[in-house]
Amino acid sequence: MPITLGIIGCPIGHSISPVFQQAALDSKQLHASYQAWEIPPMGLAGFVKTFREEKYLGINVTVPHKEAVIPYLDELDPNATSAGAVNTIVNLSGKLVGYNTDTYGFLQGLKAERGFTCGGKKVLLLGAGGAARGVLQALIQERVSECVIANRTRSRAEGLVTAGLNMGIDCKAIGMTWEELSLAAVNADLIVNCTTIGMAHTMNEGSSPLQPQQIPPTALVYDLVYNPRETMLMKEAKIAGAKALGGLNMLIHQGAYSFYIWTGLKAPINVMYNAAQKALK
Ligand code: NAP
Repeated sequence: MPITLGIIGCPIGHSISPVFQQAALDSKQLHASYQAWEIPPMGLAGFVKTFREEKYLGINVTVPHKEAVIPYLDELDPNATSAGAVNTIVNLSGKLVGYNTDTYGFLQGLKAERGFTCGGKKVLLLGAGGAARGVLQALIQERVSECVIANRTRSRAEGLVTAGLNMGIDCKAIGMTWEELSLAAVNADLIVNCTTIGMAHTMNEGSSPLQPQQIPPTALVYDLVYNPRETMLMKEAKIAGAKALGGLNMLIHQGAYSFYIWTGLKAPINVMYNAAQKALK
């Protein structure tokens, strides 16, 4: 029986996971197809239920389902439990197990910025959704000294602060007004955008959460948004004299880890990267 994998999200048009995951499956000559399903929040429970069927092997989970999907799963790996967010599900003969590979992907992506280490650094984390949860786990693991979490809905940022404080990181939540962001950004060594601001195929396309005058030239600005490859935030960072890193490397590495979870095989990183680059042109 052909195996089916795929990604669920809403919207899903921006995702290039189908392109590079299919290229990886084909290069390993696996008889499998990787699809994209646009599932609104109301349809999530019903859709996940169908994944217990034998033909489904795995799913990636993206905006806005990474937290909401958890109650429908049977088991979580320890990192997904700590993060409170799942981006990868494997179907083990009807049992659905959730993982969070964003944590790994984030750190692998950061390796592209040679010489930058998170340990002891001050971080401004923008966003408090599913991706921010995975990234916060990485920042905790790397022992950053301070993490300010800014979110449009401040109460959601407060939920993440507790996780950081419990692990001994100096954490606080703020809103996303100009004043709050300016005060927090001025001290930051690393600024990470985990919001959907700037993402292609959305109303936020072409926008940036920060302006150049708010970005210190000594900071590294890491935008998780990978479509477009150079976001408005990355452009603003460069205008400010800061370094900017996009989300493509992270995307490939989180996807490579998902591929390994599903197949037990080492992912063909170069095949995935080349397919992703082509898709973004
Ligand atoms: P999510 O759970 O839906 O969270 C979305 C976040 O964006 C929330 O913090 C939300 O704030 C904020 N937001 C949305 N619209 C906003 C606006 N107009 N102004 C201010 N804040 C706004 O989504 P997610 O799964 O965390 O994904 C977030 C982004 O990261 C997406 O662009 C996704 O593609 C990207 N991502 C990239 C990778 C990668 O490998 N490169 C991996 C994971 C995610 P509220 O809480 O106030 O709604």
